[in-house]
Amino acid sequence: MSHDFLLPLTGSFAQPAGENPTVAMIEAAFAHHGLDWRYLNVEVAAQDLGDAVRGARAMGWKGFNCSIPHKVAVIEHLDGLGESAKLIGAVNTIVRRGDQLIGENTDGKGFVKALSAVTDPKGASVVLLGAGGAARAVAVELALAGATQITVVNRSPERGQALATLINDKTPARASFTAWEGTYAIPQGTKIVVNATSIGLFPDVEATPDIDHDSLSGDMVVADGIHNPPLTKLLKAAQARGCQTADGLGMLVNQGVIGLKYWTGLDADPQVMRQALLDLDL
Ligand code: NDP
Repeated sequence: MSHDFLLPLTGSFAQPAGENPTVAMIEAAFAHHGLDWRYLNVEVAAQDLGDAVRGARAMGWKGFNCSIPHKVAVIEHLDGLGESAKLIGAVNTIVRRGDQLIGENTDGKGFVKALSAVTDPKGASVVLLGAGGAARAVAVELALAGATQITVVNRSPERGQALATLINDKTPARASFTAWEGTYAIPQGTKIVVNATSIGLFPDVEATPDIDHDSLSGDMVVADGIHNPPLTKLLKAAQARGCQTADGLGMLVNQGVIGLKYWTGLDADPQVMRQALLDLDL
């Protein structure tokens, strides 16, 4: 019997890397679908990123994820970028295509895929809380998915205005910026409300974005990018007002599903991946 002991390699480069649960989710998918692939969670310091990418290239890795602090810095080490990664200006998934390493951004795509279980962003008016990396990815993908109006609400006016300008200049959607001062009331007519800030992330689980909960109406969909805990204070408040919700675990799982598709061609089962994360009891 012949064997092939050369296993396809994928992984993640980040610092810190130890608390990143992605490896558990991806390996659960490999096991479930009978793929003898490996996903290596690797700690890579900022100054070593170039060496790490050259190493992955030399060793024929099929692809890898990049997280903090590499999402922007990795671009100069790659051969090209996907459409939305170019607009977002950040990469979280690198894919080997032939001899080339191409940077993609699956954060926003994963968000839109998770959201699509609840609503179609086409024609929607969106309130987006936040203007950091996750918010940029979400805004660009919502715009490319047909959202017509995006109101960026952010504490720092520079980042908020820059994101609104990006959407107006580079996508078919219209965007405006609102400075986040005090409690923000969601305008009536809004279809989708997204928390893309880091407010509410473990261990700060009692924190919640300062919005007027009475301005949430039952015809709105409320989505949170925070995956830990999956049921944030914001989502609880939204559910209490009859809103449909989409959680950050769905975003995390679906960005992984899309990454796996890029690397392996496989349509991975999101339920298996979500369960693998829930089993970690983060
Ligand atoms: P950034 O640091 O780039 O951005 C953070 C954002 O949160 C900024 O808009 C910042 O506003 C805002 N913010 C933070 N604290 C406060 C506060 N106290 N009051 C008002 N605004 C605040 O982070 P990322 O965009 O990379 O990540 C944001 C979150 O998204 C993280 O919690 C991360 O876990 C989550 N995420 C989830 C993913 C998933 O798959 N579920 C994928 C990627 C990210 P300002 O500009 O004023 O500083």
